[in-house]
Amino acid sequence: MSEHWLELLGPALERLEGEFAGLPEARLEPAAMERARAVLDEAARRLGENFPYFHPLYAGQMLKPPHPAARAAYALAMGLNPNNHALDGGRASSRMEVEAVREIARMFGWTEFLGHLTSGGTFANLEALWVGGQMAPGKKVVASEQAHYTHGRISAVLKLEFASLETDARGRMDVSALEAALQAGDVGTVVATLGTTALGAVDPLDEILDLRKRYRFRVHVDAAYGGYFRLVSTLGEEARRAFDRISEADSIVVDPHKHGLQPYGCGCVLFRDPAMGRWYKHDSPYTYFTSNELHLGEISLECSRAGASAVALWTTQRLLPLVPGGEFARGLEQGRAAALRLHERIAGDAQFVAGPKPELDIVVWAVRAGSLAESSQRAQEIFDRAAEGGLHLALAHLPARFFAGAEWAQSGGTVTCLRSVLMKPEHLSWVDEIWERVGKAADRG
Ligand SMILES: *Cc1c(COP(=O)(O)O)cnc(C)c1O
Repeated sequence: MSEHWLELLGPALERLEGEFAGLPEARLEPAAMERARAVLDEAARRLGENFPYFHPLYAGQMLKPPHPAARAAYALAMGLNPNNHALDGGRASSRMEVEAVREIARMFGWTEFLGHLTSGGTFANLEALWVGGQMAPGKKVVASEQAHYTHGRISAVLKLEFASLETDARGRMDVSALEAALQAGDVGTVVATLGTTALGAVDPLDEILDLRKRYRFRVHVDAAYGGYFRLVSTLGEEARRAFDRISEADSIVVDPHKHGLQPYGCGCVLFRDPAMGRWYKHDSPYTYFTSNELHLGEISLECSRAGASAVALWTTQRLLPLVPGGEFARGLEQGRAAALRLHERIAGDAQFVAGPKPELDIVVWAVRAGSLAESSQRAQEIFDRAAEGGLHLALAHLPARFFAGAEWAQSGGTVTCLRSVLMKPEHLSWVDEIWERVGKAADRG
């Protein structure tokens, strides 16, 4: 579980305590400490019930361990527990949030923008769709069938009409279906997903943006999962074209707590136009929102927010700058290389049917069988047996047509398939071991 972060934390805590050296001591009584120790021991035992998310043999859902520096920075800041709602509650951490968010915006090509951290991707998307709804009252939100389910639910919360659009056989938004929807004239916001949750599919943002020559609509990019792949130099041509034009979007969501090496509780929403701040606070001139003395509570729907999240993010980005070719970008490239290798192995194995070639670092595959039902059942068995053998995969329910090589691909149904998110850089050196364990789990002998 890598205890390096504790080594990092010690000296940093001493430094921080030194900053407040003049204060009289206020500590827990020894008896209270003893009781807390005992309960904490119990908590640690309870936590053992989890899957080992930090280990490379956990290759299931989107879980990536926070960087040791992020953990240390989070724990360090938690000693103060700043609140980034207002400068009063989190002076340093609010400034660090502004700086960290500026680096994320710069990654997308924006230097003037409006943005802040949120508790996660859901709330970040809610803010983006809320602003979209204010800008185009009475108009619809549309997203692909493979977009995160949260968009439909958020639209309902915001009382915006929502429609989902078909995808192609690789899980990307079907642009002709989008154009048909736009022709009706009632679409306010189009959600383009750059990195869908199930497949890591990248909607053709370039083609979506081109439609703005003929139709008026806002483009919101949900890159909660995939946003950081903007830095990756090994993308396929189509994904590259989409990421290259991300700066033309009206709003972008990215989750530092997914691929950005952060503890949970860290999403980010960005608006290209700083004037969007007016929807948050009506009586301020918009210049207020671009000033350096920004009061973050004025431009966020959430009030109290963990300053520690901002400190952890700032620290991580200072250590691993968000630049193409840097160490952070190389880590993403390693996960992607692992996914491509696993996909190749699957495609060459007669007992499986490979899903679409990974656009990012997520692999899906089905089990070859005479029927959808049998394939689904075998996937469940392999999933269970792999877990018994220490390899943790995930299951996904996907349209059968995503598995073009299967007998039942055109049956119109849904299949339960295996899914692996290879988002840790170490996955590249573990992928052969992972494949071997998949083989063992599939072996009926
Ligand atoms: C994870 C995810 C979300 C939801 O974000 P949370 O941080 O889990 O709230 C939204 N969209 C996409 C594409 C995601 O992958």
